[in-house]
Amino acid sequence: MLKEKVALVTGSTSGIGLAVAEGLARAGCQVMLNGLGSPEQITQAREQVAAHGGEVDYSDADLSETAQVEAMVAATEQRFGRIDILVNNAGIQHVARVEAFPAAKWDAIIAINLSAAFHAMRVALPGMQARGHGRIINIASVHGLVASDSKSAYVAAKHGIIGLTKVVALENAEADITCNAVCPGWVLTPLVQKQIDDRAAREGIPVKEAERALLAEKQPSLRFTRPEDIADAVRFLCGPGAGNMTGTTITLDGGWTAR
Ligand code: NAD
Repeated sequence: MLKEKVALVTGSTSGIGLAVAEGLARAGCQVMLNGLGSPEQITQAREQVAAHGGEVDYSDADLSETAQVEAMVAATEQRFGRIDILVNNAGIQHVARVEAFPAAKWDAIIAINLSAAFHAMRVALPGMQARGHGRIINIASVHGLVASDSKSAYVAAKHGIIGLTKVVALENAEADITCNAVCPGWVLTPLVQKQIDDRAAREGIPVKEAERALLAEKQPSLRFTRPEDIADAVRFLCGPGAGNMTGTTITLDGGWTAR
C-alpha cells in the first residue's frame, strides 16, 4: 500500500513509535528510526522493523537539540533520497504541580514534545513541497484536547502541537501534503508504566491495582489502547482514503474525551 515510500519516525526505539515504524515497514515503507536507548535496544528495534522487509536505518539525534533535529532530517534525505512520511512521535513526561515543576523539565518537554516537531517539519517541508507530496503525522495525545492536573508542560506541548498541525495543514492545503494529529488515551508503554509504578509506590498498592485505578479514572473502556492501534491510524492517514483529510485529529482514547 505504501510501497517504496520513505518514512522518518521519531522516538521509534520504544512504545508507540516502534509500533508505528513496524506498521509502516509492513506496508512497504523504507524507514529511518530515531530515539534513545541502549545499543541492545536500538539493535532490537532495527531488527524488529527490518523483519517486515524494506530498508531500515537509524539516527541517534537527540531531539532536544535543534541542530540534531535538522541533521536527522538531512541524514534521512541523504540515505533514502527523500521523506514522504514524517511521524513526529518522540515524547517525554514529567508529573508535578506547577509550583513544584522543575524549570529544566518544562524546557525539556517543550523542546522534545513540541519544538522538535516544529523543526523537523520546518526542514522536511521544502523537499515535500518540491515533490508535491507529503504526509505528516504528529502524535499528540488526549492531553492535546483536555487537561489533567500535574501535567502542565505535557498538556501545553500537546495542545501546542495540535495548533501547529492545523497551521502546517493550512499552509500546504493546496499541495498533496497533509498534516494531522493522532490523540491516544492511555497506551501501556514505558512512558505510562512509570506513572503506574509511581502511583503503586505512592499509594502502597500492587502495580495491577494501580493500573486498574489509572484506567478507571480516565478511560471508560477500562482497556489500554494498543500501540498497533496507533500504527493502524498512522497507516490510514498515509493511505489514499485520507488524501483530503488535513488539519484534524484522530482520537483513540476508549471514550476519555467523550465525557
Ligand atoms: P516511550 O517512552 O515508550 O517512547 C518514547 C520515545 O521517544 C523513545 O523512543 C525515546 O527514546 C524517544 N525519545 C525521548 N526523548 C528523546 C530525545 N531527546 N531525542 C530522541 N528521542 C527521544 O513513550 P510512548 O508512550 O511510546 O510515547 C510516544 C508518543 O506518544 C509521545 O509523544 C507521547 O507523548 C505520546 N502519547 C503516549 C501515550 C501513552 O499512553 N503511552 C498517550 C498519548 C500520547
